Amino acid sequence: MADAKPRNLRIVMFPFMAQGHIIPFVALALRLEKMMMNRANKTIISMINTPLNIPKIRSNLPPDSSISLIELPFNSSDHGLPHDAENFDSLPYSLVISLLEASRSLREPFRDLMKKILKEGDDELSSVMVIGDFFLGWIGKVCKEIGVYSVIFSASGAFGLGCYRSIWLNLPHKETKQDQFLLDDFPEAGEIEKTQLNSFMLEADGSDDWSVFMKKTIPGWSDFDGFLFNTVAEIDQIGLSYFRRITGVPVWPVGPVLNSPDKKVGSRSTEEAVKAWLDSKPDHSVVYVCFGSMNSILQTHMLELAMALESSEKNFIWVVRPPIGVEVKSEFDVKEYLPEGFEERITRTERGLIVKKWAPQVDILSHKATCVFLSHCGWNSILESLSHGVPLLGWPMAAEQFFNSILMEKHIGVSVEVARGKRCDIKCDEIVSKIKLVMEETEVGKEIRKKAREVKELVRRATEDGLNGSSVIGLEEFLGQAMVKKEEN
Ligand code: UDP
Repeated sequence: MADAKPRNLRIVMFPFMAQGHIIPFVALALRLEKMMMNRANKTIISMINTPLNIPKIRSNLPPDSSISLIELPFNSSDHGLPHDAENFDSLPYSLVISLLEASRSLREPFRDLMKKILKEGDDELSSVMVIGDFFLGWIGKVCKEIGVYSVIFSASGAFGLGCYRSIWLNLPHKETKQDQFLLDDFPEAGEIEKTQLNSFMLEADGSDDWSVFMKKTIPGWSDFDGFLFNTVAEIDQIGLSYFRRITGVPVWPVGPVLNSPDKKVGSRSTEEAVKAWLDSKPDHSVVYVCFGSMNSILQTHMLELAMALESSEKNFIWVVRPPIGVEVKSEFDVKEYLPEGFEERITRTERGLIVKKWAPQVDILSHKATCVFLSHCGWNSILESLSHGVPLLGWPMAAEQFFNSILMEKHIGVSVEVARGKRCDIKCDEIVSKIKLVMEETEVGKEIRKKAREVKELVRRATEDGLNGSSVIGLEEFLGQAMVKKEEN
């Protein structure tokens, strides 16, 4: 029987320690805070993390947010990591697995904290629920043991995470000499090529550190009561159906939950320069190039890309980061890594704009001058691009980006893959021809741009308040289910 009085709700959120996880968790927390604001239930939302990540989370919250932050004890040096290495962003790729492994030490402090929270809210009218990260797969078990409803919030799409899950659990590429293979439990994903596996996957033999971590973590997902995906049902049905089939628990698409466009990370002068430059360009005339917050390309690739952008005769904005393997301690001088005279030429002709390290991506994607996004296919970048109807030129490099690229190109039809992987052999001419294919009046280009406009509309309808779209329903159903579960306990 439902209570006559509204339940108080305590939502505890625990993202993994990486910007790419923290930012979507914050966006979800803010969405939940807004949703619950006008309801009779009193809702307290807390986010948990390690000491050095708490300020990072705080800097992503608006000053008037009521979301509270809770620190769990963690000392990276206890785990053989450099002092203050508490976030993927401050680590070389080779140490990422060590941080993943070290995060398992948060299990007992998390259990103690949850017990304390349960005690504080121990009355008939309170519901406590946990929203955890898929890399913290042990959260589900702890919650089950102490009788707390828990779900995973995946900052990745369901198709990408589904491929990732299946490959790590089964290592199917080890069973075949062919270059392509199907996933036994996820054949509807289509053929995967060995070149679409990141280097850790490709080299895995089942006893390496990554395999060992994944085999401990992924089975833990079945202890959770449900899954929330930062995705849209209309574009990610294949992956969502897969998770429903293999987990047997509710799977809700609730995305895109994105950082609000007025939440600025970069400098104000860069924003103004970018806006002024875009304002001066014709509609749909600009290629935007950015490889996310962590990835960069080889210097040889930078030279090919620079030549391609110049000879494509298209306008472009390129977010340039130091090339792979180069650590820039002082001022980052882009000229050192680009063809001679490149920056002067493109500045003089106003053909291109180089932005160092960090650009206001959402502002760029939402500007009418932007035509196509050459992207590493990180899931946030994809969602931001689709939300603004901008088609993609894919250059996936790591993690599940390769599978995101497959989804966008083969299943949705809004992307053309330009290159694949960090060590690929890509030449200027191929990049030019793909840029022209998507931007010019070719059959492929017209079709892709049309599809991107359609997807923008689907995404809008899924999320807009009052339209009862799939993502609004997803979040409502999840909250309803969480309350019902408490009553059953
Ligand atoms: N981003 C940005 N400016 C940049 C680079 C990245 O605003 O110059 C933001 C981008 O809008 C997105 C996030 O950083 O929200 C990158 O996330 P994604 O999942 O695409 O890739 P990751 O950085 O996690 O590889």
